[in-house]
Amino acid sequence: PPGRKVLIVYAHQEPKSLNGSLKRVAVEELSKQGCSVMVSDLYEMQFEPRARRNDIVGCLHNSEEFNYGLETWKAYQRGGLSSDLIEEQKKVQEADLLIFQFPLYWFSMPAIMKGWMDRVLVQGFAYEFPNCYDSGLLKNKLALFSFTTGGSKEAYAKGSISGDIRYLLWPMQHGIMHFCGVRVLAPHICFAPEHVSEEKRKEMLIAWAQRLKTLWKEEPINCSPEWYFK
Ligand code: FAD
Ligand code: ZN
Repeated sequence: PPGRKVLIVYAHQEPKSLNGSLKRVAVEELSKQGCSVMVSDLYEMQFEPRARRNDIVGCLHNSEEFNYGLETWKAYQRGGLSSDLIEEQKKVQEADLLIFQFPLYWFSMPAIMKGWMDRVLVQGFAYEFPNCYDSGLLKNKLALFSFTTGGSKEAYAKGSISGDIRYLLWPMQHGIMHFCGVRVLAPHICFAPEHVSEEKRKEMLIAWAQRLKTLWKEEPINCSPEWYFK
């Protein structure tokens, strides 16, 4: 709906990839709905994935012994995080919905996207103690993990060789997003795009556009251990 803000965090090197097409479809469809869409194209931005000392500008809280979590927490409070982080945090703050678009790498997200999580979701900004999980600081936002796989849908069934696809959503959806208070919409998974016909891939893109049309009516999943492991 008009006025809603969406941040797409996108991790693929090749615009012509299926991930590139999925991202484009989302930008088009959501813009058509009147949403304002921001995109963080991580490879294009050459986003730094490493959690490093120079994420903190100026004096360290404890220069004797470096503690990344502690230092970024303190730096956030005094506005002393590096500008690339401040910029991403601003986008997250504005967004009603975060869409993560990526190819599955080793049962997880690509390192560059994991680095985005590591560096952007700083204590004090995304969570605090005891403000985590349902009372996380990013409550009232939604997240959606949209990704592609190499393995087939059958391989990612419960009892199959790769196990239920939901097992690998636990760290991303629950351990990161829910921890920060974000409510999670059902994931959108395109299985094995490299191993299906052109026709099937076209259908995948249509299905994504179709889902986005009614996305704002969706209820978040019940993000508890049962959803993942029952
Ligand atoms: P692409 O190869 O870009 O897409 C397939 C085809 O779609 C291409 O030919 C492209 O031209 C075409 N296409 C693009 N746009 C359109 C369009 N509009 N219409 C029709 N066709 C289009 N997989 C797993 O399952 N589990 C893992 O743990 C895993 N780990 C990995 C680790 C690494 C380091 C790597 C590199 C890969 C891993 N994979 C794994 C495989 C990976 O997930 C898949 O290769 C990836 O998801 C495929 O998506 P893509 O966008 O890169 O596909
Ligand atoms: Zn959860």
